[in-house]
This record gives sequence, structure tokens and C-alpha cells, in this order.
Amino acid sequence: MPDLSYLRVQAVTRAFDSGGSTVTAIRDVSFDVKRGTFLSILGPSGCGKSTLFNLIAGLLTPTAGDITISGQSVVNRPGQVGYMLQKDLLLPWRTIMDNITLAQRLKGVSRAQARAMAQPLIRRCGLQGFEEYRPSQLSGGMRQRAALLRTLLTGQEVLLLDEPFGALDAITRLQLQLLLTDVWQEMSKTILFVTHDVDEALLLSDEILLLSARPGRVLHRFTVDMPRPRTPAMLAEPAVAAQKAALMDLLWKEVSSHDET
Ligand code: ADP
Ligand code: MG
Repeated sequence: MPDLSYLRVQAVTRAFDSGGSTVTAIRDVSFDVKRGTFLSILGPSGCGKSTLFNLIAGLLTPTAGDITISGQSVVNRPGQVGYMLQKDLLLPWRTIMDNITLAQRLKGVSRAQARAMAQPLIRRCGLQGFEEYRPSQLSGGMRQRAALLRTLLTGQEVLLLDEPFGALDAITRLQLQLLLTDVWQEMSKTILFVTHDVDEALLLSDEILLLSARPGRVLHRFTVDMPRPRTPAMLAEPAVAAQKAALMDLLWKEVSSHDET
């Protein structure tokens, strides 16, 4: 039996008080994710994607609804998922190696063992030789690689990546996209990935969830039927190009039918 209900978001609404009035960021959002899936979340700016991640990460409490992983509610229980943001959030006073291995060290893994576990991934993402540098000594792209490694090495099965490559140049982005898909398959992670970029969503995902403008609701769920390993050239294949056009069209309609403030 496939594990249809590994991660379940059930009728989740989250509202915020905003100077006397209430802003509903997401409303009645429900979806299930199978273990091992790479699911991208696309939606207009401000539709509640980061709010959804903060809820899944246990950092915010839903106004209504529940979120479970393997049948256990994660509401108000931070620490059940790995979480990466567009801003790298590396600790400036720690070396790259100490940043990358922080999660294992906090779990009591010895320094030597944590370093040995990190080493193959450090090489694969081109950070070898920079292990003892501080974040401020590296470029933005390298810091983001380090943040990705740290997230991959948290040991969590579910990873939430919120526009992690949004600020990178095209080549670095492609390198990290390929690294992420390789590691996702090798380490059998379940990944939820927020992006603004339809090509990126198609290139990486098994499925794409399209959210409406605020309050965010699930508009559509697409399956991406491209074989793996994928290459950027596959995006030009007619079936993929047609799917891209359909996605762009829905997004465009969603953005243009709402006043975005
Ligand atoms: P997205 O990530 O899709 O761009 P967000 O989840 O960041 O959207 O925000 C969704 C809506 O919720 C926005 O209108 C935002 O202003 C509001 N919001 C998010 N976090 C808070 C907060 N802590 N307090 C008040 N409003 C918030
Ligand atoms: Mg956001």
C-alpha cells in the first residue's frame, strides 16, 4: 500500500491580526503528500506560502485545521522538519563546517563523525577548501550552498525549502537544483519547495500545487510526467511546454483577477 497520507494538511486556515482588522493568509487548505515526493508550491506573492511552511514547521499555530506527519500532529511541535529560507541564516560567528554540522552536533553526534558525514556532500557542492571560512568570507551562492547542505544534513525526512534558490545566478541555481534532486533521491527525503519560477517547479517536481491569491487556497494539483534524471532541455518538449503554458495561464489569471497590494 502506498503511504498516501504521510504528510497531511487538513482544512488549515491561518489569520493574522493586522492593526484591528484580520488578514486571512490561507483558508481551508488541504492536501496530502506521499513519502518521498518532491512537491512544489506555486502561487502569487503574498498568498500564504511562507505562512503554510511556518505552520508545517510548527512555528505558527493554525487558526483552524491540523497538520500531521505519519499520523502525528506537528502543530506547535517545532523540530520535526528541516527548513530552509531564501536568506541563508548561517551563524556568522561559526565556520562553514560548524554551521553545516550544527544539527548533528546538537543531537550529540561527535565533531569528527559529523564532519565525516558532511564531507562527501561538501565536495559535491564545491565547498571543499572553504570548511574553515566564516559565512561573511563566502559569496552569496556559496553561503546558499552551505545552507542547503545544513538543511540536507538535519537528518529530518521532511524538508521545507522556501524559495531557496531565488536570489542565485542561473548557473549556481542549476548546480544546486541538480544537487538537490540527486540528494533527494539518494536520501529519500520528502520535499516541499516554494518557488516563483514555473520552469524550476517543472524541472524538480513530481507534483505541483498551485495556490490562489490571498487567502491562499488550493487551485490545482499537477503531476509532472518527465522521466528522471531531468535536464533543462526537457522543458522544451511539447508536453512539458504545454503544461508550462497551462500553469502560467492559471497563475496569470489568478494574479490579474486580484488587486495585489
Ligand atoms: P507568501 O510567502 O506567499 O508571499 P506570506 O505567507 O509571507 O506569503 O504572507 C501571506 C499574508 O499573510 C500576507 O498578507 C502577509 O502580510 C500576512 N502575514 C504573514 N505573516 C504575518 C504576521 N506574522 N503578522 C501579520 N501578517 C502576516
Ligand atoms: Mg514567502
